Amino acid sequence: MTDYQAILDEIAEKMRPNFGKGSVANYIPALGSVSPDKFGMTVQTVDGGSFSVGDAAEPFSIQSLSKLFVLQIAMSDFGDEVWSRVGKEPSGDRFNSLMKLELENGVPRNPFINVGALVTVDMLMSGEGDARQRIRDYLRTLALNDSIDANTVVMNSEIAHSDVNRAMAHLMRAHGSIECDVEELIATYCYQCSLEMSCIDLSKAALPLAVGGYSKLHGDTILSAQACKRINAVMVTCGMYDGVGSFAYRVGLPAKSGVGGGIVAVVPGKLAVAVWSPELDTSGNSYVGTVALELFTSMTKTGIF
Ligand code: GLN
Repeated sequence: MTDYQAILDEIAEKMRPNFGKGSVANYIPALGSVSPDKFGMTVQTVDGGSFSVGDAAEPFSIQSLSKLFVLQIAMSDFGDEVWSRVGKEPSGDRFNSLMKLELENGVPRNPFINVGALVTVDMLMSGEGDARQRIRDYLRTLALNDSIDANTVVMNSEIAHSDVNRAMAHLMRAHGSIECDVEELIATYCYQCSLEMSCIDLSKAALPLAVGGYSKLHGDTILSAQACKRINAVMVTCGMYDGVGSFAYRVGLPAKSGVGGGIVAVVPGKLAVAVWSPELDTSGNSYVGTVALELFTSMTKTGIF
């Protein structure tokens, strides 16, 4: 049997020389105050094992990790209609780029870049119920943790510095890609990004993706097998922005990152893993988190390729 605890302990030990090579996101001012030297990692196995190291219990800003879960809700509500509103191709551009949007008639390349996530949350907002509450409650259910909530300081800081996201939303509204009022949309998007979860929470929340949608941990079918297959595929091709190719090369797992420094990844049939370290590489992915996952798949021989 794989000794995940020993592996995580060894990885944490080896991370020290990797600090100081990336930089903490500060384009959202409230994110810039996080200590750069945090490191946490949790492995949640399909048979119920949970193994953690470092700051794994500390909640942090999930940022774009929320895009993974909002896509799941949108797919449960709308099925394949989602794919008529957003594409499933990598963008090759930064996560907050507007460049292809105008060329491609306001249709985002995929749901994991900002433009695509604005569309999926627009879909939720045009449906039944309060979108914010639904997103928060969905995460509480998946993480089995009722204390998950938004950090309003981060949310307000992002709302006040969302000019680029607003520009995207206006452009897409002009093309008919979104329906909601732009300010409402930005407020809801910033809410989902400002939710805080720990590595322990996130590893549980991602577990259904490792088990074809039915999770024993949750005692329920969280996603259809088909949705699960599709989401994992889009994570492989689009989950790490313009760094997706080198991430596949180095780590080799379906994964999604956020500028808070979190990454969740899935080893189909085996486990979900979440890692957090706030210093980012030039694509906006956790620098240390990527090194840790690279080591993890090498040590456990679990990359999908
Ligand atoms: N809230 C961030 C933004 O919209 C999310 C980006 C990210 O995590 N990559 O810019």
